[in-house]
Amino acid sequence: MIPSLTDPRTRSAYSEGAGIYRIVPQAVAIPRDIAGLAALVRDAERRGTPLIPRGAGSGMPGGNVGRGVIVDCSQGFRTLELDPAGRRARAGAGVSWAQVTDAARPHGLRLPPDPASGAFATSGGLVATNAAGPRSIRYGSVRPWIEAIEVVGAGGEVRSMRRGAGGAKQFNLDPGDQDLIVRGYPKTRKNSSGYALDAFAASGDEVDLFIGAEGTLGIVTAVEWRLDSIPPESAGAALALGSLDALGEAATFLATLDPSAVELLDRTLLDFVAAAGGEVPPGAECLLLVEFERETPAAARGVVGDAVRGLKQLTLQADTALDRAGLEQLWGIRRLASPALARLPETRRSLQVIEDGCVPLERLAEYVGGLREAAARHDVPVAIFGHAGDGHVHVNALPDLTRTGWREALQGLYDDVGALQRRLGGTPSGEHGDGRLRAGTLVSLYGSELIGRFRDLKAVYDPRSIFNPGVILSAADWAPLVDLKVGDDAAQIPEDIAARLRDLERSGGWATPKVDLTRSP
Ligand SMILES: Cc1cc2nc3c(=O)[nH]c(=O)nc-3n(C[C@H](O)[C@H](O)[C@H](O)COP(=O)(O)OP(=O)(O)OC[C@H]3O[C@@H](n4cnc5c(N)ncnc54)[C@H](O)[C@@H]3O)c2cc1C
Repeated sequence: MIPSLTDPRTRSAYSEGAGIYRIVPQAVAIPRDIAGLAALVRDAERRGTPLIPRGAGSGMPGGNVGRGVIVDCSQGFRTLELDPAGRRARAGAGVSWAQVTDAARPHGLRLPPDPASGAFATSGGLVATNAAGPRSIRYGSVRPWIEAIEVVGAGGEVRSMRRGAGGAKQFNLDPGDQDLIVRGYPKTRKNSSGYALDAFAASGDEVDLFIGAEGTLGIVTAVEWRLDSIPPESAGAALALGSLDALGEAATFLATLDPSAVELLDRTLLDFVAAAGGEVPPGAECLLLVEFERETPAAARGVVGDAVRGLKQLTLQADTALDRAGLEQLWGIRRLASPALARLPETRRSLQVIEDGCVPLERLAEYVGGLREAAARHDVPVAIFGHAGDGHVHVNALPDLTRTGWREALQGLYDDVGALQRRLGGTPSGEHGDGRLRAGTLVSLYGSELIGRFRDLKAVYDPRSIFNPGVILSAADWAPLVDLKVGDDAAQIPEDIAARLRDLERSGGWATPKVDLTRSP
């Protein structure tokens, strides 16, 4: 077995990821190769030790933290081989989206789904969460861009799974399952919640079971990515809407024009931007940032004109950009959002508890309206933004931690928004996954029969339940808002490490090797 690190400082450095939790693991392992990882898995099975696979730790819902042994795959598994002619990149699990994309760009290629966390999110983490990004409206999540993966599974067995190769270990869907799936899965454009039995039913490919499995079925060691040409032209617009009611209609109309991004900045976020000195169109209830990618300048310009004309009745203000540089400038307001939120006092923390809901596009305005109402009801300010064209928005809850009752308010918001998502036919996760945060709510979303099939799947691939137990399938004592990184009862870790973890969160420094956080102050 490879040595595990058990000193308190190292364990503390791995106690947090992005998101709300702080859980100090019993140990940390940093395997460098497949043989070491396979030995670790076999040993964990013998002892019944839970393993928590880890990439950069930027995942939001707590799938990257836990009480067992953290398996950090971001330091080994770093080879990257490019095959430009075949439009493929074979990346180790520790290779980030940015590293794949930087290597592909000189060949006119890219990995089209573009998560905002691309600078640090690892290939293993992207596969495990079925990550997506602004351009997923046109290019989908990472799922269709995964040609093959290599996995260390139960018993330390190394398996390769290739798209089109079919096959699953001993897990098959019955004819009755098809009906369950059609009835039980949300009809949203994106979904990273639960196991993807729907995708598996459609393709018959084992790889689809592992994409989005959040490290609960095995540990991904390598990914063969499909790459795509970078379209030569792009153009777009920033459209200010004067009423929330217009949002659904506008997003639905824009989706018909084959955009490559339709991003929302809601008033709840624009208010913070304005307070920090950013220029916000007066009277705007929300802003839609639209991008179109096309083969010729005329086609790019033409479709921007179509968008602006088509939404004339709904927009307060429309600004256009006719090339990539102009678009970057126009979208500058997006970059003001993070610093605006980072300026909030330390007592008002941004907590990701309802951060990833996705609803059918035609219910988007209702969803955003319901989010605002729930926030007001529980007196927890929120900032809403995200991928409007997919009916998918991120929400930062910003409770005042000095206020008595902030936990109850946060729990109320969590419960109400979950119920709202289900009422609107949505999913609690469009791209981040369930982690520990949402695991216990899945039975309300999918129903007990599908949860039973999820458990069957888990039993086939992980019979001793050592891979990330409590993630996707909830533990018996599940509660979403415990083990928080904030509040009086947060687990005690050395102050200097807590401060460095907070810095990572504020600066997006997740690519930092976590052992670096343990250096002496
Ligand atoms: C500022 C910011 C912006 C973000 N923007 C986006 C976005 O645009 N789109 C998006 O989809 N997400 C986004 N995220 C969330 C996060 O970056 C993604 O979920 C990403 O895919 C996680 O990658 P990671 O390497 O950090 O994985 P981790 O956080 O380390 O792990 C995430 C999950 O994957 C599992 N896992 C990790 N590595 C492996 C492996 N090798 N084998 C098996 N399981 C593994 C873990 O167990 C865990 O369940 C954002 C996060 C931040 C902090």
